[in-house]
Amino acid sequence: MVPFRTGEQMKRKLYIKTYGCQMNVYDTERMAEAMAPDGYVVTEQPENADLVVLNTCHIREKAAEKVYSDIGRIRAMKSTRQKQGQDMMIAVAGCVGQAEGQEIMRRAPVVDMVLGPQTYHRLPAMVREAGDRQARGQKTHLMDVEFAIEDKFAELPRPRGDKGPAAFVTIQEGCDKFCSFCVVPYTRGAEYSRPVDRVSEEVRRLVDEGVVEVTLLGQNVNAYHGEAADGSTSSLARLIRNLAEINGLERIRYTTSHPRDMDDELIAVHGEVDKCMPYLHLPIQSGSDRILAAMNRKHTADLYTDIIGRLRAARPDLALSGDFIVGFPGEMDEDFEATMQLVRDVGYAQAYSFKYSPRPGTPAAEDEAQVPEAVKAERLAALQALLGEQQKRFNADTVGRTLPVLLEKAGRHEGQLVGRSPYMQAVHVTIDDASSGNPKPGIGSIVPVEIVGAAPHSLEGRIKGAADRPAA
Ligand code: SF4
Repeated sequence: MVPFRTGEQMKRKLYIKTYGCQMNVYDTERMAEAMAPDGYVVTEQPENADLVVLNTCHIREKAAEKVYSDIGRIRAMKSTRQKQGQDMMIAVAGCVGQAEGQEIMRRAPVVDMVLGPQTYHRLPAMVREAGDRQARGQKTHLMDVEFAIEDKFAELPRPRGDKGPAAFVTIQEGCDKFCSFCVVPYTRGAEYSRPVDRVSEEVRRLVDEGVVEVTLLGQNVNAYHGEAADGSTSSLARLIRNLAEINGLERIRYTTSHPRDMDDELIAVHGEVDKCMPYLHLPIQSGSDRILAAMNRKHTADLYTDIIGRLRAARPDLALSGDFIVGFPGEMDEDFEATMQLVRDVGYAQAYSFKYSPRPGTPAAEDEAQVPEAVKAERLAALQALLGEQQKRFNADTVGRTLPVLLEKAGRHEGQLVGRSPYMQAVHVTIDDASSGNPKPGIGSIVPVEIVGAAPHSLEGRIKGAADRPAA
């Protein structure tokens, strides 16, 4: 068997499965970059991997069970490789690792190491340590689930901007809100904001490498309170205004926000900073004040709709996205109807909706007034039908308009490109014959695209001809 040692001279294969949110996508990229100096290259085939990392998420239903079932599949692949004289190391990272580290080691001894969202920068050192232990014939079981966030960003390699013109930048992590259904405060820890200089430096470097759009990430991104160069505390609004001054950066987005942190300063940014895109993901979870109180959301439905009104006054074309949980413990028909009414009143461009499922260790999981599955399913179907209709209408309303689209990658068909509208819609762009003779727009450019068709989840557009193509 090949002993598990890393080294720059050896090329080893790394497979990372990412579950859940955009923060995990960002973390996965950072882990791949952190392993590169040790000779690891990313593969899409787990069966060929020397190192498999499951970057897990604890938000969705039966999250831990899905991870165990994936570990079972990976174990079979590992066993095949071992019969061929090769090995495979298995790491569980992310929020399930954080929440259930000991349990994972107990239930799945094939896992070599467990690390949390705040310790993934230590992955290379852990893999080296595990390799050394293997070579000595010792057990590898390593676990690191501390909450040392400050180290993480300082020690991670700098993100590369060579993955397309749009990039994520984590600016904030953790949450102090303790919604009664959510594990984030337990798995990601208390709120932490990266200093302004570090964020600006990362964005400038990405722009130098061709990035034109950044999405600022945080579990509670609008609670951002990073230290500014003068020692003061910067809000998210101030950070966005600073970043908007970077030449070459054309678009700024941020996610995920909490209504309580949607202050006047940030609302004003939507009206005053052109680079701040007219799209906002602002979860409410329920339209019923009774359920919002039980969820410990610390806001009412009225506060939410008031914020939406002020945002739309500042930026009338703002497209909204939200999150909804149906069947929260104690949810009655009238509570659900309040959610439906709120959705009708607000009107969403898109939204995410889920049946409530208990997360071990959260207060709501202990509530005895659990809603029967059949009721949850019925409510979810009704809500999704309404949200689906709204999304369809929102997309249909853009047909006939010309929107600035950031071209992000090649499409599936010859000559087709795929991009994003300011409202986060995916746009499949065909380059019209009439534009031949024009230099073809490249990936990374923002071009005016005439929207000629709409599907529930995407738009179809064409680039205007030579005569009528204005500068983007
Ligand atoms: S604000 Fe968001 S991340 Fe924080 S506890 Fe509530 S749902 Fe979880």
